[in-house]
Amino acid sequence: DYGSGGTGSMDGDVASGNPYAGLVSRLRAAWLSGKTRPMEYRVAQLEALGRFLDEKKQDILEAAALDMGKPPFEAEFSEIILCKNELHETLNNLGTWMKDEHVDRNLVTRLDSAFIRKDPYGVVLIIAPWNYPIHLLLGPLIGAIAAGNCAIIKPSEMTKNTERLVAEALPTYLDKDCFAVVTAGVEETTRLLENKFDYIFYTGSPSVGRIVMTAAAKHLTPVTLELGGKNPCYVSDTCDVQNVAQRVAWGRFFNVGQTCIAPDYVLCSVEMREKLLPALRKAITDFYGSNPRESPDFGRIVGDKHFQRVQKLLCSGRVAIGGQTDEKERYIAPTVLVDLQPSDPIMQEEIFGPILPIVIVANMDEAIDFINSRERPLVVYAFSSDDKVVNQVLERTSSGGFCGNDTLMHVTLTSLPFGGIGNSGLGMYHGKFTFDTFTHCRGCLHRGMGREALNALRYPPYSQQKMGI
Ligand code: NAD
Repeated sequence: DYGSGGTGSMDGDVASGNPYAGLVSRLRAAWLSGKTRPMEYRVAQLEALGRFLDEKKQDILEAAALDMGKPPFEAEFSEIILCKNELHETLNNLGTWMKDEHVDRNLVTRLDSAFIRKDPYGVVLIIAPWNYPIHLLLGPLIGAIAAGNCAIIKPSEMTKNTERLVAEALPTYLDKDCFAVVTAGVEETTRLLENKFDYIFYTGSPSVGRIVMTAAAKHLTPVTLELGGKNPCYVSDTCDVQNVAQRVAWGRFFNVGQTCIAPDYVLCSVEMREKLLPALRKAITDFYGSNPRESPDFGRIVGDKHFQRVQKLLCSGRVAIGGQTDEKERYIAPTVLVDLQPSDPIMQEEIFGPILPIVIVANMDEAIDFINSRERPLVVYAFSSDDKVVNQVLERTSSGGFCGNDTLMHVTLTSLPFGGIGNSGLGMYHGKFTFDTFTHCRGCLHRGMGREALNALRYPPYSQQKMGI
């Protein structure tokens, strides 16, 4: 199944060993025809995307529930509302974003026109992960359409119900000449990546990010890589402990911890840990009741492989809260681990599950050293009633983003760039940053035909006299 975007000369493609060549060249022909360039076209496609989100809302929520037991509230907030925010922001500003930007000129070009044209790249590829399978697929697509590109989007094969919904329904809303959904596992995606794209936007793990970047390098294709990692969360000794516990527990256990910007581990003093543990226990009970397994607000791990991976991580340290698992349901209770060593397995890889390890540090300086001794994360969190402490952590660490005194909330602002640095990614998006990501800034100078006498100064024969001018 190569998706519902249609693959044109599919048989010929298979024979030639490149099953996606026909699809890519069909989209390229559509792009070259110029049909995606007018603003009216882009607006019409974006509005159609909005109708998809509205009309298929119930189907999206059901697919999310079937795929990973995602509570409807979480699905609506993270998949639909965040996407619609991006859409509104884009539709409200597209006219301004698209405009040529006129720039300063020098003496020689003073009477000419110098401007930056916001050009589309051409045919772009968007590859999405499974944890927010709609938002992380359609968020980039909004920018790709807005910037005037044609696009192939590839949803994750892990979330089958969402993948099917997108492949079947989305193409009925969008222009099939320019936008296609490809459903593909690893093998097919490898083949897809052999084709030349003009831009690749990838969201997923750092290891696959390397594979995508290597494939892109063969064609000198620019990439955005939205990757993951371990996001530290420093909690200072001065803070409202119950508020911190709620904000950290919400960020950690939302979507069962399967969030790229979830706080991955807490760094705090022994004294703070002793206060945090009862506060976290209360927050977890307040959120999910005494048995989270029965809570309609707590989902499940996406698949068996991931369940086994996360379950194994429970072997590190000592369980202070939770720890229950059920393989049949792929249930892992909201869990807090203590007594950990930095070398424990759980401190080596991104957890991507409902486990919160608490690692002890003596003070803020030690927390900062700990953070800086590891790969640069997607986000650093710092909690303190003392703004100076929050600012110090911000000032002395490096990460894709930063959020002081809360978790996840920075992602809700379309005005902030979202992206990683180093191991957590390359490039940024959200709001205008998504439009910019899919836009080539074409530096243009359009001169008048006259005033040739001025040009004579740069033409041969050269002379010392001309140099002096
Ligand atoms: P993944 O890397 O396994 O898969 C992501 C996509 O890549 C899927 O569509 C998959 O089909 C494809 N893929 C997998 N292996 C491939 C290969 N060998 N060649 C080509 N394509 C391949 O990631 P995942 O498990 O779906 O998502 C979890 C990861 O994504 C975590 O590391 C998480 O932090 C990260 N993530 C990052 C962000 C962000 O915005 N930075 C958002 C969500 C998730």
